[in-house]
Amino acid sequence: MFALRRRVDAVVVNSSSSRSLPPGLRGAELLRDPRFNKGTAFEPAERRALGLRGLLPQRVFSLEEQCARVLRNLATKSDALERYLYLAELADRNETVYYRVLVEHVAELLPVVYTPTVGEACKRFAHIYTRPRGMYLSLEDRGQLQAVLGDWGERDVRVIVVTDGERILGLGDLGANGIGIPIGKLALYTALGGVAPQHCLPIVLDVGTGNAELLEDPLYIGLRRRRARGEEYAQFVEEFVLAAQAVFPGVLIQFEDFATDNAFGLLERYRERVCSFNDDIQGTAAVVLAGLEASVRITARPLSEQRLLFLGAGAAGVGIANLIVSAMVRSGLDEARARRACWFVDSHGLVCSARTDLAPHKRPFAHEHAPLPDLFSALQALRPTALLGLSAQPGAFDERCVRAMAEFHERPLILALSNPTSKAECTAEQAYRWSSGRAVFASGSPFEPVEFEGRRHTPGQGNNAYIFPGVGLGVVASGARRVVDEMFLVAAQRLAQLVPQEVLDAGSLYPPLRDVRAVSVEIAIAVARVAWERGLAARPRPASIEACVREQVWTPEYRPYV
Ligand code: NAD
Repeated sequence: MFALRRRVDAVVVNSSSSRSLPPGLRGAELLRDPRFNKGTAFEPAERRALGLRGLLPQRVFSLEEQCARVLRNLATKSDALERYLYLAELADRNETVYYRVLVEHVAELLPVVYTPTVGEACKRFAHIYTRPRGMYLSLEDRGQLQAVLGDWGERDVRVIVVTDGERILGLGDLGANGIGIPIGKLALYTALGGVAPQHCLPIVLDVGTGNAELLEDPLYIGLRRRRARGEEYAQFVEEFVLAAQAVFPGVLIQFEDFATDNAFGLLERYRERVCSFNDDIQGTAAVVLAGLEASVRITARPLSEQRLLFLGAGAAGVGIANLIVSAMVRSGLDEARARRACWFVDSHGLVCSARTDLAPHKRPFAHEHAPLPDLFSALQALRPTALLGLSAQPGAFDERCVRAMAEFHERPLILALSNPTSKAECTAEQAYRWSSGRAVFASGSPFEPVEFEGRRHTPGQGNNAYIFPGVGLGVVASGARRVVDEMFLVAAQRLAQLVPQEVLDAGSLYPPLRDVRAVSVEIAIAVARVAWERGLAARPRPASIEACVREQVWTPEYRPYV
């Protein structure tokens, strides 16, 4: 599984963000600094000059040989969490080897450093905790956040991923244990988007937790108090956003895994004020829109003719629908008609105008219709072309539902997007079997290819990792002051264009994960172009946007120190 691929990363042209060795860093201290440590790859001249003689075994290994050792060790680990921990230790020891292995084995390792394994790691974070990574900003630090952020060793931070831990994947409130999510996302910013590690800062806002089990756990790492709400919460987040801008001017803030109301509230409060976006809302939306656009090449049904039924009207579902409406409007549909193409079922049945219990974010999709109690009755009434699951309700797309979709349409779209794998609304195998192999299926977490009646179906993974690293790189490269919806529309369009025909023929809606680094650079170029064309870029427009973006891509490789 982890055979070493000697594939030099084709997209990388330069490592402009690599840095020279800080003065005075030498000896054992150098070996303990993951950013500059080369371990057994220090050359004899470096060992002599940097006080490393005798601290390392005699033989000098190349980066490729070091990666081979890592892969061999990974293969001996018996479960995914052990692989996660081994890689986390590697990141703490030698960043270059860590990212090189990740870049070259992204398809195998994405499920380890991100969903689904990161979910397991977050659940057990307090128990597997070894050493700090990222920053923990707690309510106890109120009034001091600027000073606390100043304690972070790096000054040139360009991307922050922040969570308050309240809705970690589909796993609920994990409090400060949620730090695993920003850590994982930023590893992907670097490995997939080429944003240099020193420019990335993972943060958890520790505002307490509503998880009683954690509050009773003697090893829990976070604040032992009920989760802050209302004004107390809002003021704390406001202080964080202002402090982040003051300490790291122009930094991109990615909001991640906040509970629905806060996710929408914070996005609305900050999108016009600072360079920020919410990945659950906007990143998910773009990856799903890309899948829908790519599906046109399979089903021959353009986006403007789709009728979509969503199960789950939370941040992700409504975010997707909003971006789909924007894309439909761009393609010539009027907005009211575009909205009527998107229908929702939540835990109380069909979202419709007769309902009086709807949260504000659901109301634009509450169309005229008699109330219906559940997904199946909504399916029968609406006969959607696409069924999208963002409810974290495993088994919700049952045999009846999938069979009904296959009855309505020759190639129904079934997207079971809830994460982690255990929360998916149906499995790939179920979707293919119950639709007699006709479903076009994608999921949020990975599923293995399925053999059905002599045909091999390869499910696509609608992973946000296709979108946010490229968007982030585009924002960083252009110095964009704001993140606008048009950036997600062009990102989705570019991603859809980059799906190879043979991949579509096998039933998948997304490019192979091994290509995601190259895809991210293409997305970044499209995003940076929007920034310059809309007057949002802080940097002067370069002669070639493409060359400018490619120059920013960081590559994990060693540079000589002497
Ligand atoms: P959320 O909490 O904001 O929304 C969940 C929604 O599901 C709520 O509207 C809730 O009412 C609804 N729901 C709960 N039980 C239901 C039931 N029995 N029937 C119908 N609806 C029900 O969460 P979110 O941010 O929207 O995320 C939802 C899921 O989507 C999570 O599992 C998350 O991991 C996943 N997600 C996937 C991707 C991706 O694949 N790219 C991206 C983001 C989120």
